[in-house]
Amino acid sequence: MDIKQQVRKLSPYKPGKTSDEVKREFGLTEIIKLASNENPFGCSEKVTEGIRSGEFNFALYPDGAGSILRNALVDHYGLQPEQFILGNGSDEVIQIISRALLEPGKNTVMPTPSFPQYKHNAVVEGAEVREIPLVNGAHDLDAMAEAVDSQTAVVWVCSPNNPTGVLVESAKLKAFLDKIPEKVLVVLDEAYHEYVTDEDYYNGIQLTAEYPNLIVTRTFSKAYGLAGFRVGYGISNPSIIQALEPVREPFNTSTLAQFAAAKALSDQDFIEKCKLENTRGLRQFEDFCRESGLSYYPSQGNFILIDFKRDADELFNILLQNGLIVRSGNALGFPTSLRITVGSEEQNSKIISVLTETINS
Ligand code: PMP
Repeated sequence: MDIKQQVRKLSPYKPGKTSDEVKREFGLTEIIKLASNENPFGCSEKVTEGIRSGEFNFALYPDGAGSILRNALVDHYGLQPEQFILGNGSDEVIQIISRALLEPGKNTVMPTPSFPQYKHNAVVEGAEVREIPLVNGAHDLDAMAEAVDSQTAVVWVCSPNNPTGVLVESAKLKAFLDKIPEKVLVVLDEAYHEYVTDEDYYNGIQLTAEYPNLIVTRTFSKAYGLAGFRVGYGISNPSIIQALEPVREPFNTSTLAQFAAAKALSDQDFIEKCKLENTRGLRQFEDFCRESGLSYYPSQGNFILIDFKRDADELFNILLQNGLIVRSGNALGFPTSLRITVGSEEQNSKIISVLTETINS
C-alpha cells in the first residue's frame, strides 16, 4: 500500500504502563503515578457537580462551534470569539497547525529536546524539521531565529519547556519575535501556563496583539485537571484562526468536554490552590536535589527533570517496583535523568524517600 514514505518510518505513540498494569505486575495495592504531568488534585468540584446534575443529549452531535466553552474563554480573557480555536487537547491544535501550514518543500524550526508532537506532525506532513539544541535546558532563540529561511512555515516555542521546565525569558522572547518574518507562524506552547510563578513572565496573550503571526496554545489537561476530556485551545488574531479552521474536524471537542472545560474555567480558586501546592512541591524536590547533590533544571511547570547521573531506565524500574510511576529521561533526550510530575506533598515525600534510599544504597 502507498503509505507515505515518512510515515512508514514513524513508530506509534507508546503509552506508559497504566496503574492497573503495574499493580498486577508487581502485586501492589497502591500506585502513585507522576509520569504525565497530570493534576494530582484532580479537577474542580464545579466540574464533577456540574456533570452529575447536568442534562445532556448524547444522541446529538456536539456544538461544532463549542459555544459554551468559547463564551467562557471570551469572558475569562476579555477577547473576541474569533480569536479562539478549540482542539481535542492542545495536541490536536498542534496537528491542525501542522496540517494547515506544513508540506514537502517547507521547513519548521523547533527546540530539542522538547514536546515530541511538533516533530511528529511535521514528519507526517513531509516538511523538513530543523531542531535546535537547548542550551542549559533553555531555548537557543538566537540559533532558532538564524535557522529560519524563506521556506520556513512554522517555528515552535515551548515555554515552560517540556521536559526541562525552563521558561523562556521575557526580553529574549520579544527580541526573537522581532526577528521572525511576519509570514512565519510562531507557536508559543503554554501548556503549563497556569503554574508559572516567575515574575519575569511575559503575557503571551498580549503578545498575540503585538505580533500578528503569533499563536498561543493552552490546555485543560494540566492545572485544570481534565486530561481525560481532551480539551485544548489556540489564541491568535482572527485571520490566523480563520485560516486554520477549515482543517479542524467539525465535532472535534465532545459535548461533555466542552461543558467540563467551561465549568473548570469558572473555578479560578481551584487553579490558585493547585498553583500554590505545585510551587511547594517543586521546593520539596529542589531541597531533595540540593541535599543529595543532584542537578536539576529550574522548573516553572508541574514537573521537574532531575539528573541522577546513572541509567534512567534502571532507576525508573526500581521506582516502578515500589509502585511509583515516573518518566524515564531516556526517551526524552536525557538518558540519565527522570522527569517527575509534582504530586501532593505526601506523594512527593514518598518518592523522595524511595529515591534517597536508592541512591544511598
Ligand atoms: N504541549 C506540551 C508542552 C505538553 O507537555 C503537552 C502534554 N504533555 C501538550 C502540549 C499536549 O497536551 P494536551 O493535548 O493534553 O492538551
